Amino acid sequence: MSPKRATPAQDDPLLDRCGEFLLDPPGPDALQSEYAILADGYRTLSRRLYKTLLISDGYQRQVKELAVKLERAMTKINQLREVALPLCVYCRRVRPQSEDYWQKLETFLSRNADIMFSQGICPDCLKSTYARMGAAEASPLPNAEAPPQPPSKPRTRNRPSIVTDDQYVREARELAARVEAKAPEFEEDLERLVHRYSKLARRFAKTVTISDSYQSQLRDLNMRLELLARTDLLTGLANRWEMTHRMEAEHNRMQRHNSELTLILGDVDHFKQVNDTHGHQCGDAVLRNVAALMQSHLRAEDLCARWGGEEFMILLPETGAEAAHNVARKLGELVRDTPTRWNGGTITVTMSFGIASVLPGSDLDKAISAADNALYEAKAQGRDRTVTATQREQAPGEGPR
Ligand code: GH3
Ligand code: MG
Ligand code: MG
Repeated sequence: MSPKRATPAQDDPLLDRCGEFLLDPPGPDALQSEYAILADGYRTLSRRLYKTLLISDGYQRQVKELAVKLERAMTKINQLREVALPLCVYCRRVRPQSEDYWQKLETFLSRNADIMFSQGICPDCLKSTYARMGAAEASPLPNAEAPPQPPSKPRTRNRPSIVTDDQYVREARELAARVEAKAPEFEEDLERLVHRYSKLARRFAKTVTISDSYQSQLRDLNMRLELLARTDLLTGLANRWEMTHRMEAEHNRMQRHNSELTLILGDVDHFKQVNDTHGHQCGDAVLRNVAALMQSHLRAEDLCARWGGEEFMILLPETGAEAAHNVARKLGELVRDTPTRWNGGTITVTMSFGIASVLPGSDLDKAISAADNALYEAKAQGRDRTVTATQREQAPGEGPR
């Protein structure tokens, strides 16, 4: 559908004829004014159709662009679907996997060296996210090969039919009946005009339906892209963008309810050595393992995000520094005791953690900076340990290290 085809009807010969008829009225006054109404209706509809076609073209273009973006993302995700990290970034449940899951993952990674991410959203969460965003029902993830098609039943069932309910069509039909009796010489013109008007109205109704379907596809694609945009593709955890949003929301909530909020910043020790000794893909496998371990241990209300390379940020609402210290200690033990399987062997890593609570009346940046300083201190003290920032470090005037 191109805008070129949708020419406004100013050059329509039937309208010209109507114009001549109006300049030199041969018939009764009533007929003249009704003819004018009909011509005006035709012109208005023609303009509406032209505008709608332009809008529809705009949607079509956007849908195509989004579909290409989504297709690229989905192709990569589909490649990993079989062996994706069995952990949902939203509900944090580990999805059931067959017993040979890790074996399959290893084989897959060894054959697909360039794949570095996982889907990380379980179907239940995808569905509930859709519901929250206002979509009636979650549709299955699109097939990467198939271009998006308009839904077979567009959501226009409650819309009144433009063709049958249109006042101009009704008036034109009444007029045609009267003209037949009063001015037979115009009957043929009028018949043609009514016919063309009805055709135009049908085309308009069809265009509106297509335009609606593009709109709903666009909304669908936008939601999917939004979900992907919040997820770290290597680990399936929330990404830094999502964490920043949640931090702000939790910080506001903490201030409203006068509650506690604590950050844990974790970093894999000597991670560069893992890459250097076993290769980058092995490093990626270690990061996935560490991410899954931490995620599985945290509460549903906590959020664990990939903050940067081998750094992870954990947000613990309603939690003080002492309880957070215990959480970090437990996470450290888990990581140390759960090596990553690689090439028939295992890779063991440790992690260091820095902890800082957000102080009442203080901003988030200070707490992030204090957690960073505490992590630095844990590294300096020999790694594989947890250090909690003192409140003095976050006092006004103390900057980041
Ligand atoms: P430290 O104990 O002081 O933290 O030492 P480190 O070796 O862990 O830290 P360093 O900053 O020296 O090295 C981090 C390495 O992590 C360097 C970088 O190439 C690697 N890295 C960052 N992101 C990724 C990733 O997504 N995959 C893999 N495999 N490696 C990554
Ligand atoms: Mg490190
Ligand atoms: Mg680091």
